[in-house]
Amino acid sequence: MGEPRYRAQQIFKGLHERRLLSFDDMTDLPKAFRERLAEIAEPSVLRVESRYLSEDGTRRFLMTTCDGMPVEAVYIPSEGRDTICFSSQSGCPLKCDFCLTAKLGLLRNLTPGEIVEQIIIVLNDVYGVAGATPHGTNLVAMGAGEPFLNFENLIKALGIMSEENGLFIVPGRVTVSTAGIVPKIEEFAMLERRPNLAISLSAPDDDLRDRLMPINKRWNIGMLMTAAKAFERTLKRGERFTFEYVLLGGVNDSDEHAEALADLLRRHNLRRVKINLIPHNPAEQLDYHPPDAEQVMRFKTILESRGVSAYVRRPRGRDIYAACGQLAAKQEPNLVQIAGR
Ligand code: SAH
Repeated sequence: MGEPRYRAQQIFKGLHERRLLSFDDMTDLPKAFRERLAEIAEPSVLRVESRYLSEDGTRRFLMTTCDGMPVEAVYIPSEGRDTICFSSQSGCPLKCDFCLTAKLGLLRNLTPGEIVEQIIIVLNDVYGVAGATPHGTNLVAMGAGEPFLNFENLIKALGIMSEENGLFIVPGRVTVSTAGIVPKIEEFAMLERRPNLAISLSAPDDDLRDRLMPINKRWNIGMLMTAAKAFERTLKRGERFTFEYVLLGGVNDSDEHAEALADLLRRHNLRRVKINLIPHNPAEQLDYHPPDAEQVMRFKTILESRGVSAYVRRPRGRDIYAACGQLAAKQEPNLVQIAGR
């Protein structure tokens, strides 16, 4: 546009450090230039449709893309740190039997801009537009979609988010969760500055996992564990990675399942792992129910007695369909206000 180089830096800062969603607010740019920019470029590509507030403080943002596809992000406050959960796809192509997002099917991949803007919208809602970017915020790619089936856009978005002159959310504060796209786990392992990894496992044997997570028919548990072991070898000192295990009452939560899970990790010599146990979040369209609270504790204790660290993820935002596996663009309940763009 014939402008000096430093304008690019000003615009990048305006969008990502100051989190402005309109060129007109970038008052460090000449007014005529702002007008020319607005004619040729669109600084914001998501619209907030509605915002839902849970009794536990969790907020769910239901947004749409320019072509009307739903995008959801969740803000999860907790003592000392906040977490933002964002989506990598609109809908999801995987057919995990216990997950509500699966019912949407894949609508489409999100662009890097659509991924980054989710974070900007949530930060602006929580901390105010142009409020200082808080340094304690963690990000998890655990919203709708399979991040490793939109790998390039995801990695590009994470690169933009880590920029010092922008959001400055460094890879160490980010966790990407995959249902087990084995070749992408291998590719991810080769990245130099990469986020943390979580793998959704949810069953200790192929028969059960085939039924719960059909992606297992493409890449079975053996292949997944081999990729996980290769990933483990690339960890730096003190780093660990995570297996997520959704506990479905009466389906995969018995003492025997816990033993089999510990055996599986031992057989593959996986040592630098922790297990996140996620009690199932129910929904009307899903044929599963949450596990007994007592059985959750037994499951955890069995793992620990076999030397495996295990944590129970406390459900957050269940009342507003914001919890794990509940993101399905629901228009209810507890609508608070339209946050605007
Ligand atoms: N597709 C990726 C990213 C989504 S992360 C993945 O599968 O890892 C969402 C997490 O919530 C996954 O670990 C998934 O197994 C879990 N989940 C899905 N449905 C759930 C439900 N109804 N209750 C609890 N956890 C669920």
